[in-house]
Amino acid sequence: MLKGQKALVTGANSGIGKATAIALGKAGADVVVNYVAGREDAEAVVEEIASFGVRAVAHEADVSDEGQVAAMMQRTVQEFGTLDILVANAGLQRDAPVTEMTLAQWQKVLDVNLTGQFLCAREAAKEFMRRGVVPEVSRAAGKIICMSSVHQVIPWAGHVNYAASKGGVQMMMETLAQELAPKKIRVNAIAPGAIRTPINRDAWQTPDAEKDLLRLIPYERVGDPEDIAHAAVALASDLMDYVVGTTLFVDGGMTLFPGFATGG
Ligand code: NAD
Repeated sequence: MLKGQKALVTGANSGIGKATAIALGKAGADVVVNYVAGREDAEAVVEEIASFGVRAVAHEADVSDEGQVAAMMQRTVQEFGTLDILVANAGLQRDAPVTEMTLAQWQKVLDVNLTGQFLCAREAAKEFMRRGVVPEVSRAAGKIICMSSVHQVIPWAGHVNYAASKGGVQMMMETLAQELAPKKIRVNAIAPGAIRTPINRDAWQTPDAEKDLLRLIPYERVGDPEDIAHAAVALASDLMDYVVGTTLFVDGGMTLFPGFATGG
């Protein structure tokens, strides 16, 4: 579905980013596997992708560092010639009640989750505009997929930095989509619900925790990273060429106000 396309996935050595990088490779794309720590995990992802007969390289960069993001884009173009798909996925949590949240905790989450996506999207957009549409490759000049969260709409006590970062991702994504659509660049987002990854291990690791979590999920299963990866492949493909500026919620119905299922 993505044969001949070049993709960059940030935070691709773990969880959703890892599954997405692998799924893009399986769909025929060459993939840059970004990581900031955990080189061995990134190399294992590269190996798995290469087994599909496409190319993959690991690249270390902190997405919140302007110079490192620019260097990562240069490396991408050097290795693959250009870029067609950016999945701005890297993200983290630094949780605390608001009265105990330090400025450093607030700033770190905004720097990685929001500024990191801005820096990667900006560099990708420059490359997409430099190259333009290549009809044999894709109808679009480029696709940007921002990894948001159900917390772009669901407030989350004890996580004000994270919820604010994802609310910011929504408006950044929609504004970039509006600005870049005339250049034939499609910008969209995926909002995962509860997906089984290291970021939220406490929420699903024990049977009691999982039971609690399932009360929030009408579809009654915790999501797998592949659920998000498949959505990313679909959004990146020309099957979704008319989808611009949309957030695709992949959440088992978490945003359907499950508390009201029994009448409220
Ligand atoms: P994860 O912890 O497994 O993966 C996060 C990745 O981001 C890791 O590879 C980490 O090293 C990387 N990262 C962190 N800071 C970075 C930086 N400065 N530069 C580059 N990479 C950096 O967690 P995950 O669940 O796979 O999270 C991926 C994305 O999905 C995040 O944006 C997260 O907010 C979002 N998300 C996850 C869930 C969920 O339930 N797991 C739900 C909604 C949204």
